[in-house]
Amino acid sequence: MKPLADRIALVTGASRGIGRAIAVRLAQDGALVGVHYRSESDRAKQTLDLIRAQGGDGFLVAADLADPAGAAQLADALIGELRARRDPQLLDILVNNAGIDDRKTIEQVTEADFDRMLQINFKSPFFLIQRLLPVMADGGRIINISSMAARLSFPTMPVYASTKAALSTLSRVLAAHLGPRGITVNAVLPGATSTDLNPAASDPQRSRAIRDTVALGRIAEPGDIAPIVAFLASPEGGWITGESIEASGGQRL
Ligand code: NAD
Repeated sequence: MKPLADRIALVTGASRGIGRAIAVRLAQDGALVGVHYRSESDRAKQTLDLIRAQGGDGFLVAADLADPAGAAQLADALIGELRARRDPQLLDILVNNAGIDDRKTIEQVTEADFDRMLQINFKSPFFLIQRLLPVMADGGRIINISSMAARLSFPTMPVYASTKAALSTLSRVLAAHLGPRGITVNAVLPGATSTDLNPAASDPQRSRAIRDTVALGRIAEPGDIAPIVAFLASPEGGWITGESIEASGGQRL
């Protein structure tokens, strides 16, 4: 029996990168996975094709999380899918993965930059959780993808790092609040991972400099992060809550 058999999961930003790897892994473990995307429907379909090629199943849901109405639209779309597929209509696993980075020092950040990053990285996940709590199963899982940047002090990440620190703090607060329902809430903090969000990871010179700061001596692939999320989502990960778990291969220890 697969660990996530009969579970339904939603992974935001699952059209590519870490979100895609998480969606595929949760489906391998038996969950029916809602593959959320903003506009890249082709890439989201590729995620779904990968899931189905491995014997799993899922569905697509679109919403722009830069839009203040995006979280509500996503929640409504998901609830519609649950209605069509399940009785009682409950969500078991929510992974808030969608996020953006915009490398600028405090002198360069505009108010529009600030608002956009806050909306996508923190406000939308916050209100997505709020909207989905009424349909979350008791014993469910919320996993927020934060960042190792929340612990460090990269000069070009003042807003990004702050939104990620906020996600980690929110995870701890909600873990206490939702404990009586058996819902665990944790943050996973990737280090440098080779995705579209981190161009340095695929640049030979810059990636060598990053590798030198990693105890395990390499830059992560999305597949390094996904099993950690899958463990937290699994029954065996059920005694961990309120934690911020760094998944960086020991970067900048
Ligand atoms: P990525 O750019 O490949 O993926 C980001 C995902 O978020 C994409 O699917 C994108 O479509 C989605 N997204 C962006 N803006 C959106 C919007 N307005 N509405 C809806 N969806 C939107 O990058 P990734 O590295 O896979 O990032 C996944 C998560 O991991 C992010 O939260 C990121 O902050 C975090 N993270 C990444 C790294 C890294 O080095 N790659 C390190 C630490 C944390």
